[in-house]
Amino acid sequence: MVAQLGGQPIFILPEGTLRSTGKDAQARNIAAAKAVAETVRTTLGPKGMDKMLVDSIGDVTITNDGATILDEMEIEHPAAKMMVEVAKTQEDEVGDGTTTAVVITGELLKKAEGLIEQDVHPTVIIRGYRLAKNRALELLEKQAEAVTVNDFDVLEKIALTAMTGKSGESAKEGLAKLAVEAVKTVCTVENGKAVVYKDNIKIEKKQGGSLDDTELIRGIIIDKEVVHSNMPKKIKDAKIALIDVALEVKETETNAEIRITSPDQLQAFIEQESKMLKDMVSKVAASGCNVLFCQKGIDDLAQHYLAKNGILAARRVKKSDMEKLAKATGAKIATSLDELAKEDLGYAGLVEEMKVGGEDMIFVRECKNPKAVSIFVRGGTEHVVDEAKRAMDDAVLGVAAALEVGKVVTGGGSIEIEIARKLREYAESVGGKEQLAINAFAEAVEIIPRTLAESTGKDPIDILVDLRNKHEKGNSYFGVDVIHGTTSDMKVNGVIEPLKIKTQAIKSASEAAEMILRIDDVIQSKGGGAGKGMPPGMGGDMGNGDYGE
Ligand code: ADP
Ligand code: MG
Repeated sequence: MVAQLGGQPIFILPEGTLRSTGKDAQARNIAAAKAVAETVRTTLGPKGMDKMLVDSIGDVTITNDGATILDEMEIEHPAAKMMVEVAKTQEDEVGDGTTTAVVITGELLKKAEGLIEQDVHPTVIIRGYRLAKNRALELLEKQAEAVTVNDFDVLEKIALTAMTGKSGESAKEGLAKLAVEAVKTVCTVENGKAVVYKDNIKIEKKQGGSLDDTELIRGIIIDKEVVHSNMPKKIKDAKIALIDVALEVKETETNAEIRITSPDQLQAFIEQESKMLKDMVSKVAASGCNVLFCQKGIDDLAQHYLAKNGILAARRVKKSDMEKLAKATGAKIATSLDELAKEDLGYAGLVEEMKVGGEDMIFVRECKNPKAVSIFVRGGTEHVVDEAKRAMDDAVLGVAAALEVGKVVTGGGSIEIEIARKLREYAESVGGKEQLAINAFAEAVEIIPRTLAESTGKDPIDILVDLRNKHEKGNSYFGVDVIHGTTSDMKVNGVIEPLKIKTQAIKSASEAAEMILRIDDVIQSKGGGAGKGMPPGMGGDMGNGDYGE
């Protein structure tokens, strides 16, 4: 921290800067990262526990979703923040497996710590971890099995596995089917590959009813009301117009200075404006539509004319919803009224306004071959709908990830046991100190079955030993049977996951672990929030390390 020049100390950093270096810096970072992993670890799997999160204004979230927990925790330690990044990446790339990714990262660091204590240099560990990661990715690819859009049963199992541990156990089967149906409906094939645009599945939630009332709408729910009370509230065989122009007389036109010297002139002016609006509505009606969604405003008078024409209309519909409406109904969004043609109209079997939870919403249903759909999640309490929506998110994203990569693996820790076993064989062939790191990597991956085993309340060692034996004998689908506290064939049990969850988790975990291991110097400027939010034992004094100075 302080250089010497002729016996005089030279301060290169401002006074008050906190700094830790070498082993000390590493130990702190590892401890912070481990603390984060430990926090979410107990939520893993079907028997995982929930966390109750209370934010600064007292709002409560009960969840066992890793990403949500870390998101709400307001973590401040820099290394701990990197763990949050791992969860975010997993969430963005796959949408599920966040706890898995974070827990493996924590375990990789914990094992690295053990090796550092045995005087294995971090660069050697990093080298070993990289070899292990690449081999693990190859092994995963080899172990995985193909899945296509026609394998409904497998896809349903993926959805069910993805919803694991989230509330709504009773309604799970129904929810899983909806998730698969939704993904199948919007899935398209591009260059021979299945592509799912997740944005085309809108998951809406509304408290009320029960989980069983959750439904898939082959169309879109618009959180708006029908704009005028004289308009129809329900239209069968809807011909839908989407416009991105206001049905209003432009402000600039009316704001222009007009000198009105007689009542006749005023009357004429009002009539002029009313005629303009009437003409606009005539153009809309001429297209043959009976439903209108407008991205902009609709003047009161225009609403009146629309109602007279028997058109159901909504205004100020969000741009994203307009785009989904176009995809669901096949309509083209018109940017001028002159452009609006019959061919541009979309179709829905039914458009209706319904009151849900005291609020009017418009349901666009029964679209033909919709490329955008909605899942409407219902549930008795706010917490139930919230968690059910998260479960639905995971299910949809899980099925999508499986279809896009076209490969699946068995869960319940089975794939991790298999990968670990093969990594150990590989370690032997590599030899040297890297061998230690590869073995450590193998053990770190096994944290998944170990944690699942712990969640059963039975002796995790027994379960782990049993699993290793089974795999040694070629039963590579054997994993933790969390319900019975034993081991069983996960393929038979239907515990199936998309390959991408595992490859992404391994990638992010090893990259984050490597990044944290590379740090041998933490320089934190004054007011950088040092100490705040750190896990116990992390804040405060700084010391000197053994290397990297
Ligand atoms: P993540 O955030 O990592 O997705 P989860 O709490 O969803 O965490 O747990 C996922 C883990 O639980 C995976 O390893 C998965 O294989 C396992 N799992 C899910 N369902 C079952 C089941 N029925 N039996 C055993 N393991 C299961
Ligand atoms: Mg999950």
